[in-house]
Amino acid sequence: MPAGSIERPVIALDNVSVLFTKKKLLRPVSVVRAVDGATLHVGRGEVVGLVGESGSGKTTLGRAAIGLQRVTSGKVVFSQGETSTDVESAKGRDWRQLRQHLQIIFQDPFSSMDPNMRVFDVLKIPLQAHGVKGKERIESAVEDVFRRVGLPNDILSSFVFQLSGGQRQRVSIARVLLLNPDFIVADEAVSMLDVSLKGDILKIMRSIADELGVGILFITHEMAVAKVISDRIAVMYLGNLVELGPSEAIASKPLHPYTQALLQASPAIDPSLREVTRSVNVKGEIPHASAYPSGCRFHPRCPFAMPKCSDQVPELREVEDGHYVSCWLY
Ligand code: SF4
Repeated sequence: MPAGSIERPVIALDNVSVLFTKKKLLRPVSVVRAVDGATLHVGRGEVVGLVGESGSGKTTLGRAAIGLQRVTSGKVVFSQGETSTDVESAKGRDWRQLRQHLQIIFQDPFSSMDPNMRVFDVLKIPLQAHGVKGKERIESAVEDVFRRVGLPNDILSSFVFQLSGGQRQRVSIARVLLLNPDFIVADEAVSMLDVSLKGDILKIMRSIADELGVGILFITHEMAVAKVISDRIAVMYLGNLVELGPSEAIASKPLHPYTQALLQASPAIDPSLREVTRSVNVKGEIPHASAYPSGCRFHPRCPFAMPKCSDQVPELREVEDGHYVSCWLY
């Protein structure tokens, strides 16, 4: 199987590229390779952490996984039982049905909720849009998901702007769960929360995967967060997946110098891991994706770069069971 593939995924991104063409006076002046040939599968009940700095392409890949971003090439397939659907080609009614199965939770719930609406109204709109009618049915569905996300029913009559940050994020999770999704992209869903609230939301997300069998692509720039919640971790740099493997293996034995640097930068890092990463001193900032370097894209920042790193692209290849890395050191 190609790197990044698993048996019977709920979502399969295969060799996906997303290119944006920048134009000046209607003429193309540069091409941004936001995602370049990424293969990543997520199983039912599995949480895959997608980690990288801002500008690495992880949000674009997440949006492509649920059809919110058209891909330039490659395939995105959603599978439910024996039925598989090409996410890119779904239209009209098929697309609306697909949207119910594929959901997203954003970093800032205010970006997707009108702060001047009452919480109950925010929750009933998606249910009604998918054919759930009747006050009693809606109330019963809302109370069920409120129990799961740990919210009291008395906030249903509150306005969104009256909620705390943690309550708002729980409401946005509840809204997604009301539609019984099979797959959720959580895009930096805890990055605006303080440490204790972060832990609570991570527990809720983990239980959604474990108890409801939902596949989750958990996008974060914090390796420590990915380690807590994920079964597998994928590390992305400038549009490429550079390392992928079981969460424990990535955290205890990171292979790619970029992964080692991310672990080193992680505030909640296990002290024992500092030994693994002490020598990695990454230079500079991530370049813009329109000016990506030749060869290994990490080579201008890599302390271990060799002559061939600047002109030969290392493939993502398996070096241990289920642990893949693209680096000439291995
Ligand atoms: Fe560093 Fe070379 Fe490995 Fe890239 S391929 S991460 S430049 S050692």
